[in-house]
Amino acid sequence: MNRVNWPTSIFLISTLILALTATPAYAFVYGIDWYLWLLFLGFFLATGLSITLGYHRLFSHRSFQAKWPVRFFVLLFGAASFEGSAIGWAADHRYHHKHVDHDEDPYDIRKGFFHAHMGWLLVKFQAPRSLDNVKDLLSDPLCRWQDKYLVPLAFLAGFGLPTALGALHAGWIGALGGFLVGGIARVVVVQQMTFFINSLCHMIGDQPYSFRCTARDSWLMALFTFGEGYHNFHHEFQHDYRNGVKPWQWDPTKWTIWLLNRLGLVSNLKRVPSEKILLAELVAAQQRIASHLSRVPTGESMCRIAAAWHECLHQVAASLAAYREEVSSAIEEKKRISQEMLLMIRRELRLALAQLKLGASILAS
Ligand SMILES: [Zn+2]
Ligand SMILES: [Zn+2]
Repeated sequence: MNRVNWPTSIFLISTLILALTATPAYAFVYGIDWYLWLLFLGFFLATGLSITLGYHRLFSHRSFQAKWPVRFFVLLFGAASFEGSAIGWAADHRYHHKHVDHDEDPYDIRKGFFHAHMGWLLVKFQAPRSLDNVKDLLSDPLCRWQDKYLVPLAFLAGFGLPTALGALHAGWIGALGGFLVGGIARVVVVQQMTFFINSLCHMIGDQPYSFRCTARDSWLMALFTFGEGYHNFHHEFQHDYRNGVKPWQWDPTKWTIWLLNRLGLVSNLKRVPSEKILLAELVAAQQRIASHLSRVPTGESMCRIAAAWHECLHQVAASLAAYREEVSSAIEEKKRISQEMLLMIRRELRLALAQLKLGASILAS
């Protein structure tokens, strides 16, 4: 019992219970009008993006620089998401990246879904957490201010503001609605969304860039996490401001950063060169093919389909190896590969992976 983190546990459990009981009861008795929906959406976007764009990509990874109005906004609404201060959040997150899938990883997925999701928050750390890995944030006066006044800021911006806005619209019934819908329900939704990044994003999806850790890419998770679901890319290239790096991938956090850049509010957006990303994809595809090859039965027992498949995989592996050679020597010589060439290699890579999937499913059936 000494290890239970009581304030966090009581907050997480009571908000969850209220969101599942009091909020639906309010909706049943008074209904939820357009104003309350708008309030929910506004606070959902402000606090959700403050976590993904602010706490995560700006403060934890320094993937771009932001002027003070942006930093102030994400610190205020980050507090309103009730996920602690930016300094504490970033410290935990930097430990996660440095020690991913090991004991020092605060949300180590090897300890199970619930631990990585929210279980780790319900207990205290074995030893007091060192803030040595966030010295840059400790020297930022705005971050220090948020850390110092975190509790009043969180309650004022997270519960006080939606309650007051609800009251302005419809008196005390509006105030109650603002509190339950724009406050309680929204806090629970945004928190669960963040928790999914630490749990399901290490369980569901593909590993197109690296097999080094459990992080995975999933468009489904990206839909629920403002684009953070492309977690395999993120763990491989953590300083890139994009998580969904492909143009068609759902990444509203990336789009918001891009827009703020256009408005002159953020700058120095970090991007990993396309060649390096392609090289990671080629290496991962080669490893995937090698692992399939090792599983295809060989010798007398090999059926005709398996033999043809074996041969095909060898050819694909050889052409990927040639492309990999070409891309790595371009990177070493600091030469850019032409856009046409990049597109052609990507097309071949996609084709190879599609063949791999098809062959594996034919052999499995
Ligand atoms: Zn992760
Ligand atoms: Zn990260």
